[in-house]
Amino acid sequence: MVPSSNILDFRQVLHDSKNIVAVVGAGVSAASGIPTWRDSDGIWTAYDPAKLATPQAFTANPSLVWQHYHALRDRALAAVPNPAHLALALLCIPDLLRGIAPLAKFTLVTQNIDGLDALALERTIESYRAGRGNGDTCEASRLYEMHGRVLDTLCTSCDRRQCDRTSPLCPALASSSLRTAGDEIHSKDLPRCLHCGGLLRPGVVWFDEVPHHLREIWEVVDHADLCLLIGTSSQVQPAAAYAYEVVDHGGKVAVFNLEQSVDDDHCEFLFLGPCAETLPAVLFGNEPGHALSQGE
Ligand SMILES: [Zn+2]
Repeated sequence: MVPSSNILDFRQVLHDSKNIVAVVGAGVSAASGIPTWRDSDGIWTAYDPAKLATPQAFTANPSLVWQHYHALRDRALAAVPNPAHLALALLCIPDLLRGIAPLAKFTLVTQNIDGLDALALERTIESYRAGRGNGDTCEASRLYEMHGRVLDTLCTSCDRRQCDRTSPLCPALASSSLRTAGDEIHSKDLPRCLHCGGLLRPGVVWFDEVPHHLREIWEVVDHADLCLLIGTSSQVQPAAAYAYEVVDHGGKVAVFNLEQSVDDDHCEFLFLGPCAETLPAVLFGNEPGHALSQGE
């Protein structure tokens, strides 16, 4: 099957859908200045980021892993949501979703750890509430951050998880010379739990660890009649498995990504280009802010 790029046909499918799931990948955050995690950030050219994203790497050298994640945290703290995040956040507001998909429930699943999907949703809900008057409540759709958040810390002793937007998390991580040289920081000087004094680790899901909310996500995928793969290829896991399942039970898949992949042939729709441009244009035909003002 050759996937279609016909926007009107896609909108009709969207309009008729009852259960929509969007699976978000790194391409969505590209326009916010977050490179895909395999990209070099200029400091870490001597290390393969994939080899730092494992529990084994943290056990072997927590200093090195924390220095890497300190750089990722700073990048996430500096980033702001882009129009792709905003478009997805609008779909999470039931009143606004009804405008383009009157029968649908919507679920957002992100593989990204930068927290920008949640930030966009938080800001969109605030704008929506402000437009409707303070007394109005707004039940947004569920957002599953399956790989955790880079701004969360997790205590290796008491398992306490919390969001901490402080930077640096400890004085030892402040030194740029350490970051450049990869010099080892003593364990006692790395981020420590305020409650038990245990060593903290980044609150993300690493290779060899189980992603969060898998059971809930599969339940949504099992019932989805439309799956949007956004900024992620239909060739890589877990997006490939979700897309396959939706097609297998008769649903449709639409891919929004920079490049085509071989498995896109199984998809009904394909919209190539930067997600921050294609997604709002295809969903709303205008700037996503317009949809928000229409809902007010
Ligand atoms: Zn603790």
